[in-house]
Amino acid sequence: MHSPNHTKDFNKNQVLSTDSVSFIKKTSNSFIKSKKKVYSFTEFLKTTDFYDEALEFSQKSKIEQSGFKPLFRLSTIKDLNDCGSWLEFREYTKLDKTSLHSANFCHRHKICKSCATRRSAKQVQKYNNIITASPELMAKKWYYIVLPVKHNIDESFDTVYNRVNEAINKIKKSRENKRGKTFFSQFDGIMIALEVTKSFNGWNVHLNLLCCTDNEISNIYKKGKTFVHDELIDNWKRVTDNDSYIVSINKLNFNDAFELKKNLLEVFKYTLKFSSMKNEDLLEVYKCTNRKRLLRGWGIFHNLKEDVDMNDEDLDDEYIELVLRFVNDGYIEHSRTKIVPAPGPKVLAVRKKQKPIRHILKKSRFIEIVHQDKNGFTIKKFFKRNLSSISDFEIFAQTMQVKLNDDDIPY
Ligand SMILES: [Zn+2]
Repeated sequence: MHSPNHTKDFNKNQVLSTDSVSFIKKTSNSFIKSKKKVYSFTEFLKTTDFYDEALEFSQKSKIEQSGFKPLFRLSTIKDLNDCGSWLEFREYTKLDKTSLHSANFCHRHKICKSCATRRSAKQVQKYNNIITASPELMAKKWYYIVLPVKHNIDESFDTVYNRVNEAINKIKKSRENKRGKTFFSQFDGIMIALEVTKSFNGWNVHLNLLCCTDNEISNIYKKGKTFVHDELIDNWKRVTDNDSYIVSINKLNFNDAFELKKNLLEVFKYTLKFSSMKNEDLLEVYKCTNRKRLLRGWGIFHNLKEDVDMNDEDLDDEYIELVLRFVNDGYIEHSRTKIVPAPGPKVLAVRKKQKPIRHILKKSRFIEIVHQDKNGFTIKKFFKRNLSSISDFEIFAQTMQVKLNDDDIPY
């Protein structure tokens, strides 16, 4: 068995690069922090009525359960506590790329920081790909607008959130109104995301907007440290019933790949500042937003789905897979495996009658897994690959199997 200290020396067998080791340490440390926060939240939950409600719900029959939706189910609480209990890293040696390939994410991004961070990174990636793949989108003028919502120190999140929602709906309506054009009507597409923080002065809610148009917006000027626009101020005042008037607008430079990602990150950075929030605050936000979307898209962004695939795609190249498991209060190395795709056979395929016969390299049916056991012996195994690609969990389960049967393998 591995001792809990095992993972502290990732570099022990000199297989992973130093960059990978530091990436893995950094990532797993942030998971540890997030897990602590989640544990403290679920412990806190046990002191509230919502836990009793979850317990009661779990004891009801299917018929009794229908029509009633508790805020939390026992399974949700379990998923939250389990989130990140295994992490699969991959170092693509030849591609010089290391990533957290997959993990058992709980997908509760409104409570779990790991999932929120992962999700926002994936959203940045998704929109980055959509924008850079389209010359029309790249040619548009892009703007980043921030609209803070005025609030009082003693207001509940509920009250501030409802005010924000009303403002969002008014902006949406004003875009649809064909008679009176507003500042927001000039954009072909708007992505709108909520940002929530809690501080000594109460609930701060900002709207972050990513907007695009064919025409340059003139009359943006600098006021203090930020750039503003009179029409935008007027519009924002109108939709908030003269309540909020602070705005900022910045033109974005999408010519540079780094700038593009940086700006997308501003918009898609996770909604909640977990570090600044107590468990009570998180619960207050969750009660209000648990079935609501915190990201909306209008115009050309209307049909883009908010969901993202939390796992990485498989790259068809050899890699070292490192699976870490969470035990007590840290990660231990579960397995370290080199995975080499075996070369596939060449098959003949006929495309169309007139076209010449082509040789197409078919995806290999087998995956070779080289596993090092605790004594340093190398064990090679071939696994049949599901032709539509092997799932990460299958690999995880297989490495588990190898581990469990260590004593049965003749060296
Ligand atoms: Zn999670």
